[in-house]
Amino acid sequence: MPLFNHMTGATICDFCSGANPLWRYPAATFHDSFGSKSVEDWLACEACHAMIEAGDREGLIERAFRCPGIPLVVAMRGREWARTYVVDLHKRFRRNRRGQPYRMAS
Ligand SMILES: [Zn+2]
Repeated sequence: MPLFNHMTGATICDFCSGANPLWRYPAATFHDSFGSKSVEDWLACEACHAMIEAGDREGLIERAFRCPGIPLVVAMRGREWARTYVVDLHKRFRRNRRGQPYRMAS
């Protein structure tokens, strides 16, 4: 999107909110099922990047549950609903991807 850690201002992984994302995935701007806007490229940490390239969609969905916002969604709507949201979000991301990822200078 890219996302930032609000405390440190550092970029974080768009898939799991992990620190130190190294890969940039060109993407078009799109909306999630809440209507929240995802602006352009997504950043990925090494582990998420490996899962994306390996086509490990289940692994990537599981990792998304590390995001700080997800426990709140689980508390409000339940785990199954949160999972459906993540599945849909990743589907939208794939649809809006624009070409190959590239490694960022670290
Ligand atoms: Zn990640």
